[in-house]
Amino acid sequence: MMAASYSVKILLIEDNLASARLLQEYLKQANSQNYSLVHVQRLREGLHEITHGNYDVILLDLTLPDSAGLSSLSLLISHAPSIPIVVLTNTNDQELAIEAVRQGAQDYLVKRQVNVDVLVRALHYAIERKQVLESLRSINKTLENRVEERTAELVKAQEINDFKSEFVSMLSHDIRNPLNTILLAAGLLQNSEEKLTKEKKTTHFQMIRSAIKNMAQLLDEVSFIGKAEAGKLQCQLAPLDLVAFCRQLVDEAQLNALEKRLNLVFASSGESDVAVWDENLLRHILGNLLSNAIKYSLPGGTVRFELICQEKTAIFQIQDSGIGIPKKDQKRLFQTFQRAENVGNIPGTGLGLAIAKKCVEAHGGEILVDSEVGVGTTLTVILPLLKVS
Ligand code: ATP
Ligand code: MG
Repeated sequence: MMAASYSVKILLIEDNLASARLLQEYLKQANSQNYSLVHVQRLREGLHEITHGNYDVILLDLTLPDSAGLSSLSLLISHAPSIPIVVLTNTNDQELAIEAVRQGAQDYLVKRQVNVDVLVRALHYAIERKQVLESLRSINKTLENRVEERTAELVKAQEINDFKSEFVSMLSHDIRNPLNTILLAAGLLQNSEEKLTKEKKTTHFQMIRSAIKNMAQLLDEVSFIGKAEAGKLQCQLAPLDLVAFCRQLVDEAQLNALEKRLNLVFASSGESDVAVWDENLLRHILGNLLSNAIKYSLPGGTVRFELICQEKTAIFQIQDSGIGIPKKDQKRLFQTFQRAENVGNIPGTGLGLAIAKKCVEAHGGEILVDSEVGVGTTLTVILPLLKVS
């Protein structure tokens, strides 16, 4: 609202000098309010003025030499959407005036009918109406934003809910298997104690131990995924000799490879600059990829782990000549509990690649799969080199 001391700044865009002078005269007579008026004769000058001055209201003649009719109105509105506009028309184009109001002008004045009171009232109403409109618009915008935020929250909550129920059902399924093994083996040990040979007993105890180990590992993986889903996976960066680290991972995997009569080789190329890594995340990524390559390989095959160091990235490539992954399954395998249809009776939970992907993302990198059934699989991880700050 306008206080009495407040000066109303008016921009008059009118090529007819006589009618401009008349309007100025009226404003001088209206002594209840301070008015300051800037008069220009061309739309071009008007556009220039509104981008530089702080106007409260525009008085616009609809018949300007450099712009005909309503096009000047829409240009002004697009340049200064919050300044109210009152259009000035001649007696014979009232229709045009009404159309102008429909297109966003606050009001219109028929030139010959203008007097001090009419002019002052039109100016004030225009300013106030525009202010109300603007505040309504801003309330509307705030409400819209809030609705959008809430909807996004609800969608996210629903997704988390779906994920949780799927997770729980998959998890109970995967825990039931080792539990059954334990139950069976323990039952046999208890009921047929005397009949069992020493070797048989040892086998049953071994089965129990390995089932417990599987469950413990599963729980570790699940809690890791839980942390990653909650966005709590943080990078703990420290300097690391990348080549030595990878070589050590390969050494650790050699035992499993030997057991399957696989040839596991490591090669590195390029110079690694000093960079920082999260050793734990790297171990999860490469450990899972190496164990998959070994697990899904056929005896006698080769698994090749190559580290390529470049100026800004490190590329880790793990290639096997194993069973391969059907094209249609490749994308979804990075989600939890997803396995390809050709796994047969190779054991697995479907968590490894999901964990690897989360870790890769936490490290700001990407993971790519290239595979053909019956030929083999190559998984490529590209990680940016993070520098010590
Ligand atoms: P685990 O949670 O014990 O790792 P998993 O190996 O089944 O179980 P992922 O490591 O997530 O789970 O792999 C998902 C699926 O992707 C596998 O079940 C398998 O179908 C496919 N897969 C992954 N790596 C390979 C590979 N090197 N060769 C063929 N198939 C693969
Ligand atoms: Mg795996």
